[in-house]
Amino acid sequence: MRIENYLPDFAVEAVYDLTVESLRKHGIEAVFVDLDNTLIAWNNPDGTPEMKQWLHDLRDAGIRVVVVSNNTQKRVQRAVEKFQIDYVYWAFKPFTLGINRALKQFGVDKSQVVMVGDQLMTDIRAAHRAGIRSILVKPLVSHDSLKTMPNRLRERRVLKKIREKYGPINYTKGI
Ligand SMILES: [Mg+2]
Repeated sequence: MRIENYLPDFAVEAVYDLTVESLRKHGIEAVFVDLDNTLIAWNNPDGTPEMKQWLHDLRDAGIRVVVVSNNTQKRVQRAVEKFQIDYVYWAFKPFTLGINRALKQFGVDKSQVVMVGDQLMTDIRAAHRAGIRSILVKPLVSHDSLKTMPNRLRERRVLKKIREKYGPINYTKGI
């Protein structure tokens, strides 16, 4: 395993830490964001004021936000429709299907987009495969669904190897 395939370009506490200014500084005009535990916590489907403000700020600045989720259409649509966010479902992360679909559908240039997610094994790996930049965030809720358990166990091993070679992942307040 090449652990470099799982290394994010940046790590931040939460997706809301990505300000318009900091994104622009890195030439980012579109944000592909994972849904579960990155944008929205499973136990708070209505979202937080912080999340709504973040969406508002990015939209206001003309930075596109697209949810790229492995979940079903029904689940994703239900989660995002009240916020009117664009989305692709059945993204098949760690593969590139969803990211490529989003790039094409929304006419986004690979060099101007970043994939943000809470899982190395899916979100960050998929970004590497697709040849786009990636940002790791801390899961909004530390308690994951049972479905992500196998990934989290594998992730723990990858994190250990990353730590040994590059030092611990340092979550910052911005990029
Ligand atoms: Mg997630």
